[in-house]
Amino acid sequence: MDKKKRIKSSYKTCKICNRICYTRRFQRGFENWTSGNVDIDKFIQDNQLLSHDDLGNILEWIPYDKFYDIEHIANDRYQANWIDGNIIDWDIKNKNWKRKGQNMIIVLKKLNNLKDITVEFMNEIDIAYGITQNPKTKDYIIVLDNKCKKCNDTCYSIHFRQNFNNWTSGNDNIDKFIQDTQLSTHNSVKEVLEWIPYDKFYDKFYGITHIVENEFKANWIDGNIWDWDNNNQNWKRKNQNMIVVLKKLNNPKHFKLEFMNEINIAYGITQNPETKDYMMILKNIKLEMMILINIFKILSYQLIKIWKKH
Ligand SMILES: [Zn+2]
Ligand SMILES: [Zn+2]
Repeated sequence: MDKKKRIKSSYKTCKICNRICYTRRFQRGFENWTSGNVDIDKFIQDNQLLSHDDLGNILEWIPYDKFYDIEHIANDRYQANWIDGNIIDWDIKNKNWKRKGQNMIIVLKKLNNLKDITVEFMNEIDIAYGITQNPKTKDYIIVLDNKCKKCNDTCYSIHFRQNFNNWTSGNDNIDKFIQDTQLSTHNSVKEVLEWIPYDKFYDKFYGITHIVENEFKANWIDGNIWDWDNNNQNWKRKNQNMIVVLKKLNNPKHFKLEFMNEINIAYGITQNPETKDYMMILKNIKLEMMILINIFKILSYQLIKIWKKH
């Protein structure tokens, strides 16, 4: 179809909607942009052709100069401000798209596999707005909201991901394992694991104490995560200085199984810098019981003493 015919046909009402729907509006715009890559053009066009009366998951080609204050945040991600904001409706008066969220903060993430764009978009947990290209590196980049697709909000998963660049266990499999638990938190941090540096543990009396084969007892300075603090832009924690058990991971290759078989609540993984052993951080109910029993014994002993004096 030549250019004239295509434009003309796009002025017709949509057969499905029986009016000039969003699909038709996008179709008319096809002549006005290109990504320079046939597959990407087709991917965006196909998405737009499916819109009809719904702009919920709409994607567009966004020129790179629509972004400013681009800043590296994590792994392959950058944060930036988007001048125009996202499409919310068609403005009949101005014959253009109505937008909201001007200068909103978005996330730019490099498209790694141009042959499988659909899969990359499907695997993304954030709401996507479109694709752009860095004119210097020529990299194609997905433009993402800083919001989770599932929650339609900046949920725990997003906060954890923003911190991926700031820690590593030194072992890719362990990093990935911890990251996966963090990415699946969404609105509950109950089962989340974190990487905890070894110097966050101490023992007030004896140093980190050996209890049984491959298990040690220690106090954990920070305590566990229970919520996100928007004011401080950091995690809220509780149980500071709680006693935990550090249990050696016997087989770093099959550590997932060890976690699955563990009956106690796990808080994370650490590494003894001397032995290089990786260790699970566990809440030990048995140990807590023993401490409670000891406190009870001491208290009752004191009470008996006081009682005998009278
Ligand atoms: Zn339609
Ligand atoms: Zn979420």
